[in-house]
Amino acid sequence: MKTTIYYFTGTGNSLKIARDICDMLEDCELTPIAKIWKEETLSVTSEKVGFIFPLYYSGLPKIVYDFVIKIDLSKPRYFFTVIASAGGTTEFPFQQLERILNTKSKKLHLGYIIVMPTNYIIAYKTTPEDRQNLLFEKASQQVEVISEMIKNEESNLDPDILKREFLLYEGKYQTEKFNANFREKVNLRDESFYIDDNCTSCGICEEVCPVNNIILVEGEPQWQHRCQLCLACINYCPEKSIQFGTETKNTQRYHHPEITPQDLKSQRK
Ligand code: SF4
Ligand code: SF4
Repeated sequence: MKTTIYYFTGTGNSLKIARDICDMLEDCELTPIAKIWKEETLSVTSEKVGFIFPLYYSGLPKIVYDFVIKIDLSKPRYFFTVIASAGGTTEFPFQQLERILNTKSKKLHLGYIIVMPTNYIIAYKTTPEDRQNLLFEKASQQVEVISEMIKNEESNLDPDILKREFLLYEGKYQTEKFNANFREKVNLRDESFYIDDNCTSCGICEEVCPVNNIILVEGEPQWQHRCQLCLACINYCPEKSIQFGTETKNTQRYHHPEITPQDLKSQRK
């Protein structure tokens, strides 16, 4: 295999990007991180390796961070990442990946952020549909450019990236700490999920959870405190029955229109 793309997706934005890039490359394989990250040993023999995932708290999702640390990357020689973001753009996740790759005597060659509609409905409203379509159009143009760059093994990252400080909130909160705190506490964030009376016990929330964090007990979802906060459950529930705190009642849900619950189910073990 020439290229392996490892992806993680919550509501399909990253999966759509990963699929489209893989389709444009020759001899490319898509591998879901959620399916393999618990395996005792992980390794890859492809020449090129990509990591495609959503931006969480200005950096890597916990599952992606843990996976990249764990996997043996001694064989590949070219690394790229494409990150789906709901608007924020930062080079910090490139720095995170570069640091991890450096510990394996490797480097990140190419890094891109693609802005996609927001699924973070626990804090923001979803992107309006007309804007969603514009973002999809722009994303497919970017995917074409990125795929060509991967084919040609181009680099676009400033070599000084490791020296840079990334600050948030006017310098009050370092990005590194912000993302580390998120990763440290994310497993318990599911304590804020609950269902309302509209639940029909359809089981979709259980099926789409990439980390098997939901089980149905007497027809009702129960969260198992190993959450990654991907928000697949709340966004794919057909009854909008899942709520998070006080902010999600009567609000719109979002998932990528081409990515089905079945697609989500197939990324998990
Ligand atoms: S997806 Fe929604 S309706 Fe279906 S079981 Fe889960 S909470 Fe209930
Ligand atoms: S419980 Fe929901 S938010 Fe948490 S990982 Fe599973 S699908 Fe994602």
